[in-house]
Amino acid sequence: MDSLPTVLLKPGEADRIVAGHPWIYRGEILRLTRQPADGELVQIKDHRQRFLGVGFFNARSKINVRVLSPERVEINEPFFEGRIRAALAVRQRHLPEATSYRILNAESDFLSGLIVDKYEDVLVVQISSLGMDRRKTQIAAVLQKIFSPRAILERSDMASRKFEGLAEGGGTLAGELGGPVSVKLNGLKFEADLIGGHKTGLYLDQQANYQAVAQFAKGAQVLDCFSFLGGFGLHAARAGAARVHLLDQSAEAIAASQRNAAANGLADQCSFEAVNVFDWLKAQTAVQPHEKVIPRFDLIVLDPPSFTRNRASVPDALRGYKEIHLRALKLLRPGGTLATFCCSHHVDATTFQDVILSAAYDTRRILRRVAIYSQSPDHPVIPMIPETEYLKGFAFEVVR
Ligand code: SAH
Repeated sequence: MDSLPTVLLKPGEADRIVAGHPWIYRGEILRLTRQPADGELVQIKDHRQRFLGVGFFNARSKINVRVLSPERVEINEPFFEGRIRAALAVRQRHLPEATSYRILNAESDFLSGLIVDKYEDVLVVQISSLGMDRRKTQIAAVLQKIFSPRAILERSDMASRKFEGLAEGGGTLAGELGGPVSVKLNGLKFEADLIGGHKTGLYLDQQANYQAVAQFAKGAQVLDCFSFLGGFGLHAARAGAARVHLLDQSAEAIAASQRNAAANGLADQCSFEAVNVFDWLKAQTAVQPHEKVIPRFDLIVLDPPSFTRNRASVPDALRGYKEIHLRALKLLRPGGTLATFCCSHHVDATTFQDVILSAAYDTRRILRRVAIYSQSPDHPVIPMIPETEYLKGFAFEVVR
C-alpha cells in the first residue's frame, strides 16, 4: 500500500476531507509523489504527511481525486461487497417494505461515481467516474452475488461523463431484459422502461413522498402537474381522490401513466392530457379584466424537472417556478393543498419557499405550511456533502 502514489494536499485543504467530503479538486493539491495513471488508486495525505485516505485519481477531471475510504483499504470485490451490503442495510432499515429502491447513491454511500437502482429483480447501474468505470466488472460480479438479479443494465448516459474523459455508455452487463419492467412502489404497479426511460427508469426519490402527499387526496379534485408515469396522481387516486387530472408534455409518459392507471384499477377516477403545463395553467387562469378565476382543485401537485443546469440559470428558473405557483394557487380552493417540489441542487429550500410566498403574495393567498419533504431515504442526505441534497418540497394549505 505504501507503493501507492501519494497526493499531498495544500495547507488548509484537509479539513473537508477529514470531515467526510470525498472530492479533491486539482487546485487543492500541493504535489504528487509520482504521477498516477488515470483511474488508479492513490493515497491522500495532508501537507504534514498525515494519512487521510485512499481514492481514485483522474487528472482529466476537475475532481482529481474521489476519496473512497479514510482507511488503507484495497479496492477489490470484498470492498465493494462490504459497501453494497452496508448500503442495503440502510434501505432495509428505512424502507422495509420497498421492493424497488436505490441500493447505492454515490456520494450518499461514500462511493462517488456509482449509482445502483433495484427495480424488482432487475438492477440498473450508473457510472460517472473513471475509477468506477474501470472496476465495472468487479462491481457487476458483486451485484450478481448479492442479488442474483434477472438482469443488470448499465445506463451511463449522463453528459457529465465527458468531464471524466468517458464516453456515454450503456448496455446489458448480465442477464437479459425483454421489455418494460412492472415496478411496485408502495404496492402500486408502474411500468418502467429501464432501457430508454428518464433517469434510470422511474423517480425512486419520490417514493416516500407519493404516500405522504396522498394523505391530502381523500375526496379531492386533484391536479398532478408534470406527472410522468403518474406517481403522485395514482397514489392520490388510490387514496380516494374524487378525480385526478394528470398533465405531462410527453405523449409517451401520458400513455404509460394511462396504462398504469388501468393496471391498478384506477382508470375511472383519472383523466390525462399531453400538454405543456405552463400553457395549460395559463389557459386555465386566463380571464377578462374584472373576471375572477374560479378555483376548482383541492390538491395540486407540482413536480417539474429541474429548471436549472448551473448557477447562472437560477434567475430564469425562479421565474419559471414562480409562474407555475402563481397559476396553481389561483386554481386551488381555500382549504386546498399545494404539494410542490424542486429537484434543483442550485435552488435551496429557503429560496424555493421565498418564490412560493412571492406567488402567494401576488395572488393574495395566505398559506399554512403543513409538511416539509425531502428525497426518499434511499437517496440519503449527508449534510457534510451538500451535493447529496437536491430534492425539497412542501405542502401548503390555502388559509384564504
Ligand atoms: N412527478 C413525476 C416526475 C416528474 S419528472 C414522478 O414522480 O414520477 C418531470 C416530468 O415533466 C417529465 O415527465 C417531463 O416529460 C415533464 N415535463 C417537462 N417539462 C414540461 C412542461 N413544460 N410541461 C409538461 N410536462 C413537462
